[in-house]
Amino acid sequence: MPFSQLGLPPTLINGVKAMGYVDPTPIQLRAIPVVLGGGDLIASAQTGTGKTAAFALPVLARLGKHEARGPRVLVLEPTRELAAQVETAFRDFGRFTDIRATVVHGGVGYGRQRSEIQAGTDIVIATPGRLMDFLSEGTLRLDGLKILILDEVDRMLDMGFVKDVKKIIARCPKVRQTLFFSATVPPEIEEVARFALHNPTRVEIGVARTVNKSVTHAFYPVNMGLKFDLLVALLEKTDFHSCLIFSRTKHGADKIARKLKAANHSVAVLHANRSQSQRVEALEGFKSGKYEVMVATDIAARGIDVAGVSHVINYDIPANPEDYVHRIGRTGRAAAIGDAFTLTTPDQAGDIKAIERFIGQKVPQLQLEGFNYGAQPRPAMGFQGAAPAHGQHGQRPQHSGRGGGGYPPRQPQQRAQHSGQGQGHAPRSAPSGQPGPQVQGHGGFAGAGAQPAPRKFGGLSRGRWGQR
Ligand code: AMP
Repeated sequence: MPFSQLGLPPTLINGVKAMGYVDPTPIQLRAIPVVLGGGDLIASAQTGTGKTAAFALPVLARLGKHEARGPRVLVLEPTRELAAQVETAFRDFGRFTDIRATVVHGGVGYGRQRSEIQAGTDIVIATPGRLMDFLSEGTLRLDGLKILILDEVDRMLDMGFVKDVKKIIARCPKVRQTLFFSATVPPEIEEVARFALHNPTRVEIGVARTVNKSVTHAFYPVNMGLKFDLLVALLEKTDFHSCLIFSRTKHGADKIARKLKAANHSVAVLHANRSQSQRVEALEGFKSGKYEVMVATDIAARGIDVAGVSHVINYDIPANPEDYVHRIGRTGRAAAIGDAFTLTTPDQAGDIKAIERFIGQKVPQLQLEGFNYGAQPRPAMGFQGAAPAHGQHGQRPQHSGRGGGGYPPRQPQQRAQHSGQGQGHAPRSAPSGQPGPQVQGHGGFAGAGAQPAPRKFGGLSRGRWGQR
């Protein structure tokens, strides 16, 4: 069914067209009619399924025109990045309407947010803390609220916002429409839902525990001391356009970033200790192609929506199996394709099992051909991994041509010779010039060890390995 048959007004159909969407995604097909009909909704849909449009479009339709009184819609988001992104989506979809949306989050001054609220806005998209500030000082009132949306509810509760969320719900008018969007719906969410929603329709898209089919994912076991070397080797051999690397800790993210910069990668860092302007600069730079790599922690990366993240690398296996799905959901969004690699160490068999059990699928364990798994780790320089690897892996040229938003295909690089020490990685193409198989599989990965067919991504033909 096309967008035009979902009951949305022409202004919004034009907004959708301007976004380049052709057909609604499954969550949009199922949620839009419910929201348009005024009913409450609990939707479980994993990240990247198009859930923002699933609520933004029908909500804009229900609002119709701008009204200068207090907000009629409140959207709660767990992170600033997500709040900013959802505000952008509302503005994009509503570009042919006069509806006003305002984002309210911490990390920036109050002035602009306060004046936008005072000028009269239709939709407030907020993180709980700053919203509570505006409610307490009386700048923002919720008496005129018609629709309350809680997005990424599972994450909001994980982040300890449950008390604030309950307080905020209590300040909304009793008669309203309420929508919950959450990747998973554990019992704590059911409990909040019981007092916040009235006779909700439930929509479940796919299984919240599955990884998008469009993503190929694999574990790369390695000894702790060689982790950083393997990361550099994977980046060297992967024809990535933009790669998101996850670290469990902020400190770890900074270290990985520092060392990747030393290995001549252009790197952005995103974590909660960075200032708001640094976070915005990192995200914008990553989106525009100024940075080819972004190192992030789970919380900061929640909701990052960058079209064309071609690869996700879990430098640290996620502590929580659910985060595995969320992290990997950063690539292969809305049916693009993407690859996701997770570095694992021998002590992490339990984490591996937990992830496999959670997603209900075995993840192939692969080895990077040519990587010297028996190498002696060098002095750790206070970091889990070994010392910077660029000397060993060959100097990378600066990717100076990668700014400005484009992703020119990489040129084959001259690799430093490893003078017969057998320490280096396999060249990207076999000596004959034919790309040789570069991934050895064990663990039942379809086609493991065989040459994967080149795939199309972002208009460029790329193989997964060694086929630049
Ligand atoms: P979301 O799950 O809302 O974060 O959306 C994930 C990505 O899918 C975003 O980049 C959206 O712009 C994109 N998207 C959402 N709906 C559609 C659609 N119907 N067709 C194509 N892309 C979409």
